[in-house]
Amino acid sequence: MDLKSGYPYWAVKNGLMYAFPKLDADLRCDVIVVGAGITGALIADELASHGHDVVVVDQRDVAWGSTSASTALLQCEIYTHAIDLAKRYDQATALLAYRSCLQAIAEIGEVASAVGDVDFSHCESLYYASNRTDQARLADEFTWRAEHRFPVRWLDRAAVKDEYGLTAPAAILSTVAARVDPYRLASRLLRRMQRTGTQVFDRTEVVSIAATPRSVELTTATGVSIRAKHAVIASGYESQRWLRQRVAQNRSSYAYMSDPIDRDQLGWLADTLLWESARPYLYLRSTGDGRLLVGGEDDDRDIPARRDRRVDRKAATLQRKVKRLLPHLDARPAFAWAGTFAETIDGLPLFGRHPQYGPRVLFALAYGGNGITYSMLGAGLLRAQIERRTHPLTRLFAFERLG
Ligand SMILES: Cc1cc2nc3c(=O)[nH]c(=O)nc-3n(C[C@H](O)[C@H](O)[C@H](O)COP(=O)(O)OP(=O)(O)OC[C@H]3O[C@@H](n4cnc5c(N)ncnc54)[C@H](O)[C@@H]3O)c2cc1C
Repeated sequence: MDLKSGYPYWAVKNGLMYAFPKLDADLRCDVIVVGAGITGALIADELASHGHDVVVVDQRDVAWGSTSASTALLQCEIYTHAIDLAKRYDQATALLAYRSCLQAIAEIGEVASAVGDVDFSHCESLYYASNRTDQARLADEFTWRAEHRFPVRWLDRAAVKDEYGLTAPAAILSTVAARVDPYRLASRLLRRMQRTGTQVFDRTEVVSIAATPRSVELTTATGVSIRAKHAVIASGYESQRWLRQRVAQNRSSYAYMSDPIDRDQLGWLADTLLWESARPYLYLRSTGDGRLLVGGEDDDRDIPARRDRRVDRKAATLQRKVKRLLPHLDARPAFAWAGTFAETIDGLPLFGRHPQYGPRVLFALAYGGNGITYSMLGAGLLRAQIERRTHPLTRLFAFERLG
């Protein structure tokens, strides 16, 4: 599967940061993690730092999958509103999901600061109503979040104009959010793990999984066998190949990065993420070196060749939208790209065992717009499952909820 097209900025900027060996001999370990993107890296780090003997394998160079195409806005706001989650499930579930994501931002911050030099920065997130109809929905959402003491502020049309110079009926400002270079974070995390004894292999494709109630054996494309007590399948949007049940819908998303912009022009965008309620939506964030990252224009294309052909046209559309919203800003595309991503029916991820494999194979499918935040949550959740401890998110992120 071709996960990305065009010129994903992180891959261009950082290049191939580290080379890891290929796996060419059988091995045994406690936990084998399949996939060295941000999800596999965070899970492996969580396990290794708590005494588990972990091995990581990836069929590409590490972090070269969706992680290198991600725009990496880190938000506690799930793309499904809390009030909609409460309707689908119940209040307690909505609260659990939102509070967990809030906590995850802080946890990613801790990992990023321990790893260092990954362009992590705390910021605010402005979510504006794209039209009057959405304004009412946002108002209900704000009321729910304020009642449950989330760090939010309501801005009416005048306040949005005064404080941000934007024309929009209303907005919710969330004061907890962050941004990071996801490719750099995953790569540096894996490199740090390798230095402290975790084996990491790239260009090593897993082609079969055989699980018993007590262990699991994986085989690679070159016939090497990996035996473990548990396997964590963190193979991103390619994980569907292991499951007969269809668990998510693949889509394409588009993004571009501008050249560095003068700090005065960037203004509040230097420390605020911006996104809107319309679908397909527009979102913006900046980077540590003052570039503007613009994304959105999602569509249902699941055929890479068609997605590839659209990259430049989509980037031009995104740029037009930015110009309309922020006429003073000269933010032309310097690098444009597209990436596959997957969505579940409720916008929540899937972590844990699947009936097709039993207890020794744990999936880590950080699907949805908040994928990286979910990856962080999944790390704690899967460690609890491997250590046979209960965890509050086990049921909420389980496959069973898909029916
Ligand atoms: C354009 C775009 C914008 C996004 N924006 C955001 C955002 O703003 N905020 C956010 O939180 N999330 C965002 N996401 C989602 C986020 O990027 C993903 O959730 C995240 O990158 C998934 O990481 P992963 O490690 O699960 O998958 P990947 O990075 O794809 O890693 C999986 C790895 O598994 C490997 N693999 C697959 N099959 C095998 C196999 N059989 N054997 C060995 N290795 C295998 C692959 O080579 C790959 O490296 C965005 C995604 C895209 C595409």
